Amino acid sequence: MQLADIVSLDRVRADALVPFNHRVIGDRFLVSNDLGDHLFLTGDEMRRFVEGAALPGDGLHERLAAANLVARAVDTKAQADRWRRKRAYLFYGPTLHAFVLTHRCNHGCQYCHSSIVGMDRTDTDMSVETAERAVDLTFQTTSPGVTIEFQGGEPLANWEVLQHVVEYARQKNALIGKALSFSLVSNLSLLDDDKLDYLVDRKVQLCTSLDGPADLHDRVRVFKGGSSHALATGWMRKINERYAKEGLDPNLYRVEALPTITRPALSRWKEIVDEYVSLGCRAVFLRKLDPFGFAAKSAKTLGYSMDDYLEFYVRAVDYILDLNKRGVQVMERHAAIMLSKVLKDEEPNYLDLRTPGGACIGQIGYAPDGAIYSSDEGRFVAAMGDDMFKIGTVADSYVELMTNAQTRALVMAGVNDGQPDCVTCVYKPWCGQQTEYNYKTQGSLQGRMRDSNWCKKHKSIFDYLMGKLERGDPDEVAILQRWTTHRVLDHFLQARGPI
Ligand code: SF4
Repeated sequence: MQLADIVSLDRVRADALVPFNHRVIGDRFLVSNDLGDHLFLTGDEMRRFVEGAALPGDGLHERLAAANLVARAVDTKAQADRWRRKRAYLFYGPTLHAFVLTHRCNHGCQYCHSSIVGMDRTDTDMSVETAERAVDLTFQTTSPGVTIEFQGGEPLANWEVLQHVVEYARQKNALIGKALSFSLVSNLSLLDDDKLDYLVDRKVQLCTSLDGPADLHDRVRVFKGGSSHALATGWMRKINERYAKEGLDPNLYRVEALPTITRPALSRWKEIVDEYVSLGCRAVFLRKLDPFGFAAKSAKTLGYSMDDYLEFYVRAVDYILDLNKRGVQVMERHAAIMLSKVLKDEEPNYLDLRTPGGACIGQIGYAPDGAIYSSDEGRFVAAMGDDMFKIGTVADSYVELMTNAQTRALVMAGVNDGQPDCVTCVYKPWCGQQTEYNYKTQGSLQGRMRDSNWCKKHKSIFDYLMGKLERGDPDEVAILQRWTTHRVLDHFLQARGPI
């Protein structure tokens, strides 16, 4: 079914309509405007819509008007307010500040993105002086909320500096009063009871990697000191018990674990989901292998096509839906983020799916030597010998970092409205760009969405979800609606006043 098959151009009443895009989903047309209002229309409804033939009282006109698709009926002031709410992130600086505390790591994960070195290379640790300067810059952001995320290498390897950053940032925040939180991305193998006591006491959120069942995880996440899987899952259980002892709601407060999907994982979608469910996880983020760093070198054994990934994704999410129908509460994160945008009219500020993308103005990354990158992915590109995404150093001022030529170029390149394919895409109001991915896979910051795997992945997941919504199975729609429930983890927010 094509629009051109059911209406001729000379009948289109452009003056009666707001700008919209469309795509055939199932038996109907999905229509969306720039703010994400959307409707499914039959062929006849679509014809009447574009010919301006829907009339007050016929039901269709009322549906179109309620979806802000009829020009005369649009409340422009309300729409402007809505735009401002949904684009709130444009009115302030970066929220996510990734501190790479060291390049050292005790694992040898085959897909590792970062330029890891052996545990004796303490010369690759971030120094206290660099860390303090990075915290000073972090607090200059105009964002009312700040997350300092500890990364590596294995960030626990530079434990003293991690603690110093927490204490220094808490002291600064006692005066500045931002919504400050910390998170630690760790393989957990260097954790011990004393460190856990400190992290729990200082409300540092914990996040780890878990690729699925033991054999799958340990095959890729190589650890000479034993089973990485046993260590990670052992600590996950212990930390979750600790949260419960602290009186935190066990439905909400759990270690966040993330899988990276490799070729050996493709046929094991059910076991991966089951592993997460058995550990009490409420969400699985089925992340495709990135094209950065060591992952590119391991492509022959770990890599796969986007079609393979999408087949895996659909099987896994169908299975997750099935589990939900049987009363198991678990969701898939990509789907939950997209559905929040589509069904709840929310903007969760997920940095990979917003416009402009998160590079520089949503997140920045601080390397151990004080270099500052547009994002995590920006430093992964640097680890491969290309400083395209280096926007400065901790010696620069915040204003220089936010306004220099590199930053402006990266932000401009990450705007959907600057992409020839995106401007006519029905998913534009909910989609986004990552300039680092474009650059790495297609050689330019803008890329070409027509043959981009980034676009293919997001368009296909949107198609899958919209197909579910179009079919309208009441049980599935209720589950998908439930996945949009977003509860703030306010326990992890630091006190705003004196400490
Ligand atoms: S990246 Fe692809 S799916 Fe996303 S808005 Fe652009 S054309 Fe559409």
